[in-house]
Amino acid sequence: MSTLRPTLEFLLYDWLHADRLTERPRFADHSRETFGAVLDTCERIAREKYAPFNRLVDTEEPRFDGERVILPRATHEAHDAYVASGMLSAAQDYDIGGMQLPYTIEAAAGTFFTTASVSIGGGLLTIGNANLLLAHGTELQKRVFALNEFSGRFSGTMCLSEPQAGSSLSDVATRATPDGEDFEGDPLGPRYRLKGNKMWISAGEHELAENIVHLVLAKIPGADGRLVPGTRGISLFIVPKKLVDTEGRLTGERNDIALAGLNHKLGWRGTTNTLLNFGEGRYPVRGAPGAIGYLVGRPGEGLRCMFHMMNEARIGIGLAATSLGLAGYYASLEYARNRPQGRPVGPAGKDPAQPQVRIIEHADIKRMLLGQKSYCEGALALLLQCARLVDEQHTGAPQAADEARLLLEVLTPVAKSWPSEFCLEANSLAIQILGGYGYTRDFPVEQYWRDNRLNMIHEGTHGIQAADLLGRKVVMEGGKGLLLLAGRVNATIERAIQQPHLAQHANALGQALQQVGAATKAAWATGNPADALANAVPYMQAFGHLVIAWTWLDVLLALPAQPVQAQDEGRLRAARYFFHYELPKIPAWLQVVQTRDATCATMPEDAF
Ligand SMILES: Cc1cc2nc3c(=O)[nH]c(=O)nc-3n(C[C@H](O)[C@H](O)[C@H](O)COP(=O)(O)OP(=O)(O)OC[C@H]3O[C@@H](n4cnc5c(N)ncnc54)[C@H](O)[C@@H]3O)c2cc1C
Repeated sequence: MSTLRPTLEFLLYDWLHADRLTERPRFADHSRETFGAVLDTCERIAREKYAPFNRLVDTEEPRFDGERVILPRATHEAHDAYVASGMLSAAQDYDIGGMQLPYTIEAAAGTFFTTASVSIGGGLLTIGNANLLLAHGTELQKRVFALNEFSGRFSGTMCLSEPQAGSSLSDVATRATPDGEDFEGDPLGPRYRLKGNKMWISAGEHELAENIVHLVLAKIPGADGRLVPGTRGISLFIVPKKLVDTEGRLTGERNDIALAGLNHKLGWRGTTNTLLNFGEGRYPVRGAPGAIGYLVGRPGEGLRCMFHMMNEARIGIGLAATSLGLAGYYASLEYARNRPQGRPVGPAGKDPAQPQVRIIEHADIKRMLLGQKSYCEGALALLLQCARLVDEQHTGAPQAADEARLLLEVLTPVAKSWPSEFCLEANSLAIQILGGYGYTRDFPVEQYWRDNRLNMIHEGTHGIQAADLLGRKVVMEGGKGLLLLAGRVNATIERAIQQPHLAQHANALGQALQQVGAATKAAWATGNPADALANAVPYMQAFGHLVIAWTWLDVLLALPAQPVQAQDEGRLRAARYFFHYELPKIPAWLQVVQTRDATCATMPEDAF
């Protein structure tokens, strides 16, 4: 049985004191009751409209009949229920139809959907798209596109990747050229014609909404017709699937965007994933080929605009990875409680005359359950803490807001990547607990693993996030973010060391902090990024383990020293597991970082 709700409530209120956010003017109309009502609604919709169809959306992949993309009816019904819940605009201002809900609560409520069926999906892309337009769009762009996305009338995509430009967005080759003499006079924004191919676009084609608002990165050629190399040349465009007027009404014109094909994925199959051809002339519009798009922000500022929404998008991916980890944990826990197999070993060996025990009684199964619990509940705590920092950044006093911003810079690569790796490992442990049954499609755990395998790949691959952490985040602003984080970790250590039952963990965490600090310096000792970044992924693993250990210790401070409830005992045990079985891995990971080990970097290609 899922313990997601009590876990969320404990983390939100006993640990993060999210109810105190209602003391701030923006959230003054809220209370723990209104937060509870949001959680109730999302939990109910997820239980009724998402969970029962998770396998169905996996087996009935989206189909393209040459005209339309066909999704199961269950996906339409789940999507409609999600839109009706108001969650698309939950965090927005009252005057544009929002609820002014803290992001912390929105993020927590979203885990019900991602645990029930990650690929039916909530509004991550649409919300991110509309938020970006609120930050960088003109008043009309906000009204025509963003507001219709928040209401669910339109849905949104993010079109960054191209077949030849994935991690390296500077190589984007989609071109945007001014559309006619009067291109700057269009009320919807400077109007361009786009030509190019966008690969991997999630939710790029479907009929869940009236229209799809693509946000597309493209380059405006210079006077010589050449594209500016690097990221400086990238601009951002709104390219609607169907053209609209200044009131947001469909004009009846189809834009020149063609679905070249659907990608057939390992998992996450309930969401369409598309190769889109922009402007190839399949659907000429207003008498000419080329997809019509409206510039957002200034030319050349496309990536800067995109990065605006990266923190929340990456917290969203971390939450999806965590939710899938939790789903596997709940399924394997239930299985382990019911599956009889084997007998305990006593001093005289096994007694075959005895009945079999349930596998949850074996120490090794408990190890795998504790591993999952410590990874997934630790990750959930970290992500809610990050969401709380987003609220702090937006509504805190100036100094607190700036500290939240800086902490988020450092924590975001970890929040995205650590759950993607370790909650995936949790899914693997869940399969292991089910034995052969776990390897079949008769049980849900293999799907959780397949769905989760995406998270190390999209929104910046694992390697790219690691390079961002060690190459940029821990050294930015003179290492201020890292120092601030170290200060927070030390504050937790100081509180924990006062409590005899936590003192050992506090000391171990102190040591790990010192090791990570020393390794950061040693990695950069030559000042050469190639030396430092050759072992960025082991660095990120160690850094992530430090952050999760800190999170767990801080969570334990919210528990009574002598837990009476089984759930509190469980938290204490999961944290102990993390400190005893996981934290000692840190020095091993850091060894190669510290010595700038060049084994991988110098391997000659022909020696493979
Ligand atoms: C299911 C799915 C959904 C997606 N949804 C979207 C979407 O909605 N919108 C969108 O724009 N994109 C989307 N993507 C694209 C995704 O963001 C890219 O796949 C990702 O950025 C990696 O790009 P790539 O696949 O071209 O791999 P590559 O960039 O070719 O990377 C291949 C490998 O090389 C490594 N690598 C690359 N460069 C370096 C380097 N400089 N240093 C070290 N290692 C490096 C990578 O870490 C990776 O392991 C989606 C992808 C998938 C699979």
